[in-house]
Amino acid sequence: MACLGPLAFAFELRAGEVMRVVIIGAGLSGLSAAWHLEQAGVEALVFEKEKEPGGACRTIQREGFAFDYTGHLLHLRLGESHDMLRQLGLGTSFRRHKRRAGILLSGRVTPYPIQIHTAHLPREIRRDCLLGFVRAWARGQEDDGSFGSWVLSRFGEGFARHFFFPYNRKLFCTDPFALTTEWVGRYVPRPDVEEVVDGALGLFPKSRAVGYNAWFYYPRRGGIGVLAASLARKTSRLFLHSPVVALDLGQRYVVLTNGERVSFDVLIATCPLPQLVTMAGPVPEALRDEAKRLAAVAVWNLNLAVRGKARRREHWIYCPEEDLPFYRVGFPCNHGVVAPAGFHTVSVEVSVPSGSTPPAGWEEACLAALERVGFLPASRDVVLSHVVRVDPAYVIFNRERPQTVAALRDFFRRHGVFLCGRWAEWKYSTMEDALWDGATVARKVVQR
Ligand SMILES: Cc1cc2nc3c(=O)[nH]c(=O)nc-3n(C[C@H](O)[C@H](O)[C@H](O)COP(=O)(O)OP(=O)(O)OC[C@H]3O[C@@H](n4cnc5c(N)ncnc54)[C@H](O)[C@@H]3O)c2cc1C
Repeated sequence: MACLGPLAFAFELRAGEVMRVVIIGAGLSGLSAAWHLEQAGVEALVFEKEKEPGGACRTIQREGFAFDYTGHLLHLRLGESHDMLRQLGLGTSFRRHKRRAGILLSGRVTPYPIQIHTAHLPREIRRDCLLGFVRAWARGQEDDGSFGSWVLSRFGEGFARHFFFPYNRKLFCTDPFALTTEWVGRYVPRPDVEEVVDGALGLFPKSRAVGYNAWFYYPRRGGIGVLAASLARKTSRLFLHSPVVALDLGQRYVVLTNGERVSFDVLIATCPLPQLVTMAGPVPEALRDEAKRLAAVAVWNLNLAVRGKARRREHWIYCPEEDLPFYRVGFPCNHGVVAPAGFHTVSVEVSVPSGSTPPAGWEEACLAALERVGFLPASRDVVLSHVVRVDPAYVIFNRERPQTVAALRDFFRRHGVFLCGRWAEWKYSTMEDALWDGATVARKVVQR
């Protein structure tokens, strides 16, 4: 990693680089873009505002504990992604795990996805879910494009009331009928009627993998941050603690905090899209107004180091019920070595509208609720806690999103700016996607 020096860029550029490429952000997508560009003979300058690379794929080390920036498990769909890991020297660092995920309902944890696991739920809930599903299936009605109506038409009222509505309301802090279905694609498993009935009778085969996250990879030791750290080692021109604060689209330069201007022919932006609009100029007022319709939630992640063994063997548990302050609780020790012997870690996720903070006392409320549901032995067993904020965390798929994102993407593209990654493209995507977003944008830049 290089040190930021005021004259370095001017000197290097005079030394005859053909194309000046600047990348904002050293998360997975920015680092992957830089790495793939370098492989194609193009050296990009990567500016990262934080003092370490990785973005959302980071791990904090504290007193022998490794805390990820919320639960981060690697789901690989593509064979080529394994090649990428090998090229990064991580071929043997990751272990493959079969998902053990649950849903906490009425004091019981039933396996995820609920659609095929109602046999473990109280009879009344099971009846609601099954009856609702069969009625919806018999009606076969179309939805009106909202997530709420999509859930009702695909899964019926019982599944909607007991899981989909409260869970997604909690996660997105938004009414399910104000969300679109753009994001559901591979993320929401859609079993058929036989599978749902089997699930209600406890007949669904345990061995059958369901959903995009049925298997995942996680580093044997040290947390998910090893992925970004390996990528960062492949990037020769990475400038940490170097936020880009402004962007001149006419003259094509970015401005750093010390006022230094760095020219570009091509800019790859991986920072959140609303932030890019704010720091760029000139941007037509109408587009700035349109960008105000982009909405997101922030995730506040309370990481706990706890004495003794984890109380649960699941990797993570979804918590849709309203009286619990968190929407998901993870047990990272169940998939990696992230704590000293005799201790475990618990990762608690709370969602609030972007830019806001959880209510006063939320950490204490989480501890009390964890104890109440039996996920924590006792608050006094917590030896260390650490809070991380990811903002934005989940993009809200409102009706305005597709048009607004397309307008902004086209506008920036006309000014030599490529949007790349989960928050620049304002979408829902995984770490694997971020790695490929970087590779794809690198190809576009080289071929342009
Ligand atoms: C709660 C949560 C859980 C998740 N769980 C999973 C999971 O289990 N599995 C999975 O595959 N994916 C998961 N993801 C998704 C995954 O984190 C992302 O897809 C991926 O990390 C996106 O990488 P990125 O490079 O696009 O963005 P980022 O990681 O955000 O990188 C952007 C970088 O830009 C920097 N930056 C911003 N502004 C500036 C500026 N002005 N100047 C310079 N630098 C700037 C930021 O500091 C950051 O480092 C999860 C995401 C969240 C929010």
